[in-house]
Amino acid sequence: MAGRTRLTILGGGAGGAELAARLGGRPDLAVTLVDRQPSHLWKPRLHEFAAGTIDSTLSDLSYYMLARMRGFDFEQGDVVAIDRAEKRVGLTGPAAPDGGGAAPRRLSYDRLVVALGGVTPDFGTTGVAEHAIRLDERADADRFRARFVALMISARETGRAARVVIVGSGATGTELAAHLRQVESGFFGAKHRGGRDILQILLAEAAPQLMPGADDTLRSNVEERLAALRIDTLTGAKVAAVEADGIVNADGTRHPADIVVWAAGLVGNPRLCELADFDVDGKGRIRVDDRLRSSVDPAVQVFGDAASLTPEGAGAPLPPTAQCASQQAEYLATAIPALIRGDEPEPFVYGDRGRLLSLARAGSVGQIGFGRRHDILVKGEFANAAYKSLQRRHQWTLLGPLRGGVAIFADLISPAKGAQLKLHG
Ligand SMILES: Cc1cc2nc3c(=O)[nH]c(=O)nc-3n(C[C@H](O)[C@H](O)[C@H](O)COP(=O)(O)OP(=O)(O)OC[C@H]3O[C@@H](n4cnc5c(N)ncnc54)[C@H](O)[C@@H]3O)c2cc1C
Repeated sequence: MAGRTRLTILGGGAGGAELAARLGGRPDLAVTLVDRQPSHLWKPRLHEFAAGTIDSTLSDLSYYMLARMRGFDFEQGDVVAIDRAEKRVGLTGPAAPDGGGAAPRRLSYDRLVVALGGVTPDFGTTGVAEHAIRLDERADADRFRARFVALMISARETGRAARVVIVGSGATGTELAAHLRQVESGFFGAKHRGGRDILQILLAEAAPQLMPGADDTLRSNVEERLAALRIDTLTGAKVAAVEADGIVNADGTRHPADIVVWAAGLVGNPRLCELADFDVDGKGRIRVDDRLRSSVDPAVQVFGDAASLTPEGAGAPLPPTAQCASQQAEYLATAIPALIRGDEPEPFVYGDRGRLLSLARAGSVGQIGFGRRHDILVKGEFANAAYKSLQRRHQWTLLGPLRGGVAIFADLISPAKGAQLKLHG
């Protein structure tokens, strides 16, 4: 171990897991990945865990297994403190279900990378914490699915349609709505087959149009697909409160719901402000320079949803997407060794590769940039393949070319891969 730089990566999500896999096994680095979960799931498909439509045997990868395969150490625990002066990270847990659990401990580092992601904010809206589900992690998806399954069974038995209101029409809200419509038929008893819907879905958006920030062509295409899926939409909906039985808008209108999903926006993980004296932006994301160094400590780099990087000349920070986190992981995999050698790496440059949505049986659609030409709208099998290739690329990076290739091929042809409708974890 002597002479090796101890690199600790906090958070094994879309970005952190890729970085650990890329840097693990290097002779000059002792890489430790920390995550509070025992296994990695790719957050862009969290809504599919919630809906029960996840269809891959590679959707949940053990960090312990990945660590052994890719030559890094894995430490399962909740990050509760960063002591920058002593270069130590404080961890607690994991807790055991019957009490007890691992003792609090500290990990020393030479260089630290923070990739602890973000969460969905409630913007101070009354009742969100108590009555709505936010899809931030696996436990949220499991909680949603348990409630949804019970609700659908009851809707089938009573004939009263289940009502789901989703607040926020970004990728999470729109894709979840489409996937819920897909699983509805799995609950049909013989008596309802071919009958009316037993699920009503309302997608509520505060902005004047669905999918704020999306190109008009993409938006109108998505709107048509949502209409074909009989998903109701409501724009300009300023939700003032979430109650046990629905949402209440600022103008007093009420929309009854059995389940409310709150999928509006993203801010930095609230833990970031508690860990150390980081300089955070208005959305609680740690400000970094164009080499992804935190503004308070060059030995601490931050990326993904936890970081706020506004490129020179741009009016806003880079978007909190897996696409951006993955590009930053690739960048850091060469920038960190360079910094350790005392070199100054080139700055990080983000390349927007577009935006893709999978709307279950309404197909995939997206906007992809090709070189210097304008973005083009992609649909059908090509969009579907492009959407899936994002995750395949991620799996490939995590598992490595040889194992990744074999595992991905096996996953594609496996009869044991997830069912179209999964009712359990
Ligand atoms: C439903 C949904 C659909 C999406 N679709 C897309 C898409 O199509 N394309 C796209 O580019 N992006 C998409 N995104 C956004 C994308 O998932 C995120 O931008 C991306 O996951 C950010 O990566 P990250 O590594 O910064 O954080 P994350 O992937 O969120 O990882 C953070 C990690 O930190 C761990 N962690 C958090 N707190 C602690 C702690 N205190 N101690 C220890 N570990 C901790 C978590 O367990 C997690 O593993 C989607 C997001 C959602 C929710």
